[in-house]
Amino acid sequence: MLRVEALDKRYKTGDHALKGVSFTVDAGQVVGLIGPSGAGKSTLIRCVNRLVEPTGGKVYLNDTEIGAGAGDLRRVRRRIGMIFQEYALVERLTVMENVLSGRLGYVPFWRSFLRRFPQADVDQAFALLDRVGLSEHADKRADALSGGQRQRVGIARALEQNPELLLIDEPTASLDPKTSRQIMRLIVEICRERDLPAVINIHDVALAQLFVDRIIGLRAGVVVFDAPPDRLDHAALTSIYGEEDWAAMHRAAEDDAAEEDEAEQALQARRERLAGLA
Ligand code: ADP
Repeated sequence: MLRVEALDKRYKTGDHALKGVSFTVDAGQVVGLIGPSGAGKSTLIRCVNRLVEPTGGKVYLNDTEIGAGAGDLRRVRRRIGMIFQEYALVERLTVMENVLSGRLGYVPFWRSFLRRFPQADVDQAFALLDRVGLSEHADKRADALSGGQRQRVGIARALEQNPELLLIDEPTASLDPKTSRQIMRLIVEICRERDLPAVINIHDVALAQLFVDRIIGLRAGVVVFDAPPDRLDHAALTSIYGEEDWAAMHRAAEDDAAEEDEAEQALQARRERLAGLA
């Protein structure tokens, strides 16, 4: 379980990015973090994994405080699996090596340098690749994969470190709508299977609503919404984004949906044509 208590962040520039943010995320629960640009979403994620030092407040992971002692950073990062928008794979390494790199915080340097990982780590990596549907691609170079496949490697790598929490930053921002849905479904299924809490920074509100258990809306460093996705109505959305921005986002989402429908219709027409040729 993740517990964030009165988290506060004021940057040296004077920007007050988080103003007493509190929430808990239970084991197996997936929370979507939404809000306009500059609301403090990245700052919040970075304060949890201690890429940014908060000015005030506390973060607990399974009842131990994160970042309480000096030299604690490495231990904190081991406990938190990160999944990134641009996957952050080492392109020249194989899929398997990328997944094993999730163990780097655990394996002695000389062994990782020689790429000699304990058999148990290799076995776990194979099992994870199987779970994300990539077992046949273990020996391929990462740069030979599609975007969706790369993100699956990113998910397997995060799990390879046996994290107690997943922090996920815009996991589908570089993917097409269908692949985005597949990736979101996979993330949510895996969190349930492993009883893992997760926080996903996600700008696609419709996608978040489809998959996550709960939505936290941030605006100007304050939690202005915290409820299941079906409670996210017009009033809630305007409280998070403001009337004008929400209307603009809504129009953009409708345009995207129309484009997707067109693509789907074009595909269907092509299938029918091909069927006619057969
Ligand atoms: P979001 O991820 O929701 O777009 P951020 O957490 O990036 O929001 O930013 C929140 C606020 O903190 C903004 O006002 C932003 O300008 C400010 N901010 C973010 N990072 C820094 C930084 N490294 N130094 C100073 N101000 C920052």
